[in-house]
Amino acid sequence: MGANKSKKSENSIPYNSYKIATLGSHSAIQILYGAKQEGFSTIAICEKGREKPYKSFEVADEIMMVNSFRDTIKLQDKLLRENAILIPHGTFFEAFKLEELEKIKVNYFGNKSILKWEADRMKQREWLKRAGLILPKIYKKPEDIDGPVIVKFYGALGGKGFFLARTAEEFHRKIKARKTKGEIRAYIIQEYIIGAPIYIHYFYSPLTNELEVMSFDKRYESNVDSIGRIAAKDQLDLGLETSYNITGNVPIVVRESLLPEIFRMGEAVVKASRTLNGDNKGLYGPFSLETVVTPDLKFYVFEISARIVAGTNLYMEGSPYTMPRYNEPMSTGRRIAREIKNAITRNRLREILN
Ligand code: ATP
Repeated sequence: MGANKSKKSENSIPYNSYKIATLGSHSAIQILYGAKQEGFSTIAICEKGREKPYKSFEVADEIMMVNSFRDTIKLQDKLLRENAILIPHGTFFEAFKLEELEKIKVNYFGNKSILKWEADRMKQREWLKRAGLILPKIYKKPEDIDGPVIVKFYGALGGKGFFLARTAEEFHRKIKARKTKGEIRAYIIQEYIIGAPIYIHYFYSPLTNELEVMSFDKRYESNVDSIGRIAAKDQLDLGLETSYNITGNVPIVVRESLLPEIFRMGEAVVKASRTLNGDNKGLYGPFSLETVVTPDLKFYVFEISARIVAGTNLYMEGSPYTMPRYNEPMSTGRRIAREIKNAITRNRLREILN
């Protein structure tokens, strides 16, 4: 545990003696900008040659250079001395194994014991099922395929290499092509849901025990989002295969009558998270449900991210959902900093750090 301070000493430290730090990637601009809006000093840990945005956008008071994000481990003593609080995002989970993340001594915003439930797709399902959400079917073996499926490889790789199939024969053909290219990792075969993808961005505060709906996005993926521009006949002639490699995010405002269900799902996920480790300490901070909404307006949830997602980068100046609540620009990054600030001033910081 970093900065191993007693509650008493925490109390006597002004909140802005803590620094907000993150890896220079994913949603760092938003996180650091939000932290500065709340009065914190900020640190960006950047890989050599990738620091330009953090300098140019002036969101980092200090830039710590590393050859690779993995070298952040070597910066631990320095970060502890700076009283830094690390804000995790997707790049942390690409750079480090779960066990490595669990061992990091620097203050870390979020509940680390939840991470294993997010990292494993089957454990995720168990969590989402406990929350009573509707999930796409999983096929145990290719021979069971009886409708459209999406084959997903493990690892948060932004949908790279995923493919669609409709029959066992098609599955075997496509997987064989990938095996030949040496691209095979563990995978799951999931029912492909036809509908509108909506990624829901939530924030749960353990200080107020309240779930907030922050915003929504959908992804802009290559090549799936440009295939519709090519006539069906040409698609066939070109022998195109879809891929889902993420390149950006697109904002969404949802049909307002869907909001009650969206709140209900988020609250159910938080409630279920308290049962996962048997310690009643569940999920808090930002998280996202990745959904496809069918024509009968059912939300199929195919993934949960128990942390800030990059789609929130759209809303540096707030969203149509944060504006009425805060009446000032409130991004998810800023909301994290606000939570930390509130926890410090209420002498409850230990409850939200690991
Ligand atoms: P990340 O971990 O970065 O969120 P990922 O690699 O796990 O990404 P997914 O988000 O699971 O990838 O999915 C990538 C794409 O596939 C998205 O466009 C999503 O909308 C689509 N998709 C995933 N699962 C389904 C499904 N069951 N039905 C329909 N579309 C799906």
